[in-house]
Amino acid sequence: MTSSATQWPAHGCAIRSVDPACAEEMPQILYIMGTGRSGTTILEVLLANEKDIVGSGELKHIFRDAFLRNLPCACGKRSHACEWWSAVRKETGWSDADCRRYRDAIEAIERHRNFLRILSGCVLRHEWDVYEQGTTTLFRALGRLSRARVVVDSSKYPGRALMLARLFPRHVRVLCITRSAYGLIAAFQKQNDEEQRPKHPIAAAAYYVYVLLCMRLARTRLGDRCLSIRFEDLTRDPVGVLSRIERWSGVSLARVRQMLAAGEMFRVGHVVTGNRLRKQGVVKFDPSVARTDGSPPRLLAWILERYRALLGF
Ligand SMILES: [Zn+2]
Repeated sequence: MTSSATQWPAHGCAIRSVDPACAEEMPQILYIMGTGRSGTTILEVLLANEKDIVGSGELKHIFRDAFLRNLPCACGKRSHACEWWSAVRKETGWSDADCRRYRDAIEAIERHRNFLRILSGCVLRHEWDVYEQGTTTLFRALGRLSRARVVVDSSKYPGRALMLARLFPRHVRVLCITRSAYGLIAAFQKQNDEEQRPKHPIAAAAYYVYVLLCMRLARTRLGDRCLSIRFEDLTRDPVGVLSRIERWSGVSLARVRQMLAAGEMFRVGHVVTGNRLRKQGVVKFDPSVARTDGSPPRLLAWILERYRALLGF
């Protein structure tokens, strides 16, 4: 187990330095792990409004959604026309064939059902090599182009948290966010064609049980490189939660706390994969998103809430 500040050394060199060794330095990675509909995107938006932090949505899907499918970016342009993702593509020099190779390796390794395989270190060598190449090049390019010290990745998957932590042991911290079962099942009842499809309460409950267990195992493996927060705390006391993140990570979030206090709008940034927030250029932090319109089975939600507490979330 490792301790806090020493894991995240200050990014002491200007990006695009003439020193090639310096230019190759990895940014710090702040990974957001959680279930769907648990506030991962709004958490990323808050963090990425800090001047030393850049957010780019769910990077697990960036090869598929931005580089291959050319989906719309939050800036309003298609990914291939977006200046940020065009610059990343140019910086990396990736061809479409490269993007397909990296997409396939990430999808093969990181799917939810492979979590125990990742936890036990059973990743095939050839898959690992492709994964390492694509992921390392991506984060280095994001760091160089943004000149930010920290890159936020809100991909959510617990397996990806472990993969990134293994790949970049001195550079990764994981924020684990959980939401009440009642809120999550209600959120999954809403119709939404473009994001994750609605889930029946039983399917949502099974998903909740499995992903929370994976997150618990990942948290145990990561030790103090992982911080757990609750969606309900974030909506009730965002400044308090940001202060906890600040103390744990050693990264200043003073600007974001000031913006929250002043009720300012938050820039969404170049997010391609994420929830509906990505379609808005700017958002206001609105605690009313925590209110749910659905009516999940109360007994089921109560049992799952006990389960959540049992796992320490
Ligand atoms: Zn964009």
